[in-house]
Amino acid sequence: MTSPFEYAPAPESRAVVDIKPSYGLFVNGEFVDGRGTSFKTVNPATEEVLAEVAEANEADVDEAVKAARRAYTRVWSRMSGAERAKYLYRIARIIQERGRELAVLESIDNGKPIKESRDVDVPIVAAHFFYYAGWADKLKYAGFGDTPLGVAGQVIPWNFPLLMLAWKIAPALACGNTVVLKPAETTPLTALLFAEICQQADLPPGVVNIVTGAGDTGRAIVSHPDVDKVAFTGSTEVGKAIARAVAGTEKKVTLELGGKAANIVFDDAPLDQAVEGIVNGIFFNQGHVCCAGSRLLVQESVADEVMSRLKRRMATLRVGDPLDKNTDVGAINSAEQLAKIRELSEIGEAEGAERWSAPCELPANGYWFAPTVFTGVTQAHRIAREEIFGPVLSVLTFRTPSEAVEKANNTPFGLSAGVWTDKGSRILSMANKLRAGVVWANTFNKFDPTSPFGGYKESGYGREGGRHGLEAYLKGADD
Ligand code: NAP
Ligand code: MG
Repeated sequence: MTSPFEYAPAPESRAVVDIKPSYGLFVNGEFVDGRGTSFKTVNPATEEVLAEVAEANEADVDEAVKAARRAYTRVWSRMSGAERAKYLYRIARIIQERGRELAVLESIDNGKPIKESRDVDVPIVAAHFFYYAGWADKLKYAGFGDTPLGVAGQVIPWNFPLLMLAWKIAPALACGNTVVLKPAETTPLTALLFAEICQQADLPPGVVNIVTGAGDTGRAIVSHPDVDKVAFTGSTEVGKAIARAVAGTEKKVTLELGGKAANIVFDDAPLDQAVEGIVNGIFFNQGHVCCAGSRLLVQESVADEVMSRLKRRMATLRVGDPLDKNTDVGAINSAEQLAKIRELSEIGEAEGAERWSAPCELPANGYWFAPTVFTGVTQAHRIAREEIFGPVLSVLTFRTPSEAVEKANNTPFGLSAGVWTDKGSRILSMANKLRAGVVWANTFNKFDPTSPFGGYKESGYGREGGRHGLEAYLKGADD
């Protein structure tokens, strides 16, 4: 079944963004040429090359860390919290003012639908800066002391480029640290626009430094001897390598890694709302979400009904041009990620699960994957255990609440979970038993700067957001 609705395309104009042919590094408040090579960033929806971006080498990273250290010692750590807050408020307001530009650029470089970058990513980015601006002069009431750590080295992934930047930079700056941040290789452009926003806000030079590059640039930041704190969001594999690299040093570390969240639907749940929550849980941002509800656990008595409603709903998802305001599911971020999603889906079929994909027409160019669901999945299947990081849902069933808890917790990850039921008491008892950093009840993928986020087990350690998010950037009593 194809969509019964016809929509006239409603593309957002690209005219609001000004993409330069090439970009340097942002060090000490200025854009400078890199000493190393450069790489191209592409629009994953079209494969069009957008710009040539400098790849920072070790000497470039060293220069950025030196700039951050100078800014820390001479300016930022000496400034009162109230003064620092003024800069953060200013940045937050400029993000709002330039929100459309940031959203369009994010969708072009990342492939996510404009309705998400416009209505989710950018508003939460601004909210994050407003929120931590509010803490800057109240640190001594937060309970973690008020002494900053120094220079923070921050490495982020491509799925929420600007949002991850905000999660890293806002609390670091509010606490009086300076930063060297590396965006992901496939999504550097909004971080570079953020660098312009720092200039516009008159942020003292060196407080924020943006060094673009790939894994080697990230490694150079993490292993730099004058970095006091490492903050990383990305894969569990790289997270483990980072934990090993900083072991035995004085560096503080926070790691936000992968996930394989269970979205649990009980038979008393309002099923249409649950179906919306399942769709939001796994198809939001093409499933490129660490806390995506990638394992659906549905109570056996309603499994057939839920599956038929879910497939009907999936058939109406509009997959295509990220800049079209009608689009629900955009492009996969890179050819490499598309290959990983395809590979794991093929393994799912080979292992005997039944695959169903929404009957949508995919554009000829670019990287695309139709929203897909696997039924007949068992806990031993790789598609039930490994993170796919794409629009692919694995469905398992359960009979009793304790079986649901056991299956949900049977994973090396522990980032998030969802519970759908009419019973408040069941929500509370499930939330107590699920080994996950966030448990959503009758909703999914809700983010707010006041709420801490982070994982158990192989999903990492440390919390970002909320009052707890300050702890990672302040010296504790035993440091
Ligand atoms: P990734 O390969 O781990 O990359 C993350 C970042 O680390 C990128 O900037 C990457 O550079 C850089 N990097 C790669 N190797 C490095 C090394 N040896 N040392 C230092 N930095 C290094 O992850 P990804 O594929 O981009 O992102 C997807 C993963 O991130 C998923 O597993 C997802 O679950 C996780 N994630 C977690 C959260 C969370 O909050 N828990 C949020 C978002 C994503 P490149 O530019 O070369 O990639
Ligand atoms: Mg790109």
